[in-house]
Amino acid sequence: MVDRLVNSEANARRISMVESCFGSSGQPLAVPGRVLVGEGVLTKMCRKKPKPRQFFLFNDILVYGNIVINKKKYNKQHVIPLEEIKLNPLEDEGQLRNGWLICTASKSFAVYAATSTEKQEWMAHINKCIEDLLKKSGKKALEVHAAVWVPDSEANVCMHCKKNQFTVLNRRHHCRKCGAVVCGPCSSKRFLLPNQSSKPLRVCLNCYDSLSRAKAQQNSLSDNSKGDMVKDRNAYNRDSSGEEDSDDEEESNNKSQLASPDQPKFYGSVPA
Ligand SMILES: [Zn+2]
Ligand SMILES: [Zn+2]
Repeated sequence: MVDRLVNSEANARRISMVESCFGSSGQPLAVPGRVLVGEGVLTKMCRKKPKPRQFFLFNDILVYGNIVINKKKYNKQHVIPLEEIKLNPLEDEGQLRNGWLICTASKSFAVYAATSTEKQEWMAHINKCIEDLLKKSGKKALEVHAAVWVPDSEANVCMHCKKNQFTVLNRRHHCRKCGAVVCGPCSSKRFLLPNQSSKPLRVCLNCYDSLSRAKAQQNSLSDNSKGDMVKDRNAYNRDSSGEEDSDDEEESNNKSQLASPDQPKFYGSVPA
């Protein structure tokens, strides 16, 4: 289905359209063999609250960005290779309906579609693309993925000590291992999580203990000499800052962002 689109003029036109909407803030997307499979607005659960984001599904990558002007201008482009993605459906919970998790080794987050049909369409298309890619490359599906961050609003007190109340001064922190919202003293330690960063990251005291124990065990097993192997293998990792979610902060005030999103468009037929 998607193959039919590879060398089509319509596909080339669509991809250059996406590029021009991101302008100089995005990377070049026209690559031989790449097909734009679908596009649409999904609500992404960010640190503070759910926010609309424009998503583009290609046959090899998932791209999303902030909406500056609906259908015209996007920024804060993120590109995730599909081979690194695993989807997990979410149960409906109050206002948060038709959602699923997009999990990768370095970052995981929840998105929500407008209807259950759209959710099914998105998930089916993404999963089909992942399946085709893995079949071609012979690689294995992702097994270990980063924790999904608990939204700030879900924790008024530290999830570790259950005492420390959050205020303007007493800031919330996120454990990079389990995603819990914790206070400063309960997340004073750092641990190396090679899939997420080349620098040690903030973890809660629980995770610090279990990670330390696991590492001690591993070291005694592996004769100490190979302790740094994992670190070296992941040295390519691009995000070394490890700090807060970059697309989360600062929001444009543009009203068009609130315009009701259209239905997603998919250019191949829905996979069976
Ligand atoms: Zn605490
Ligand atoms: Zn933790």
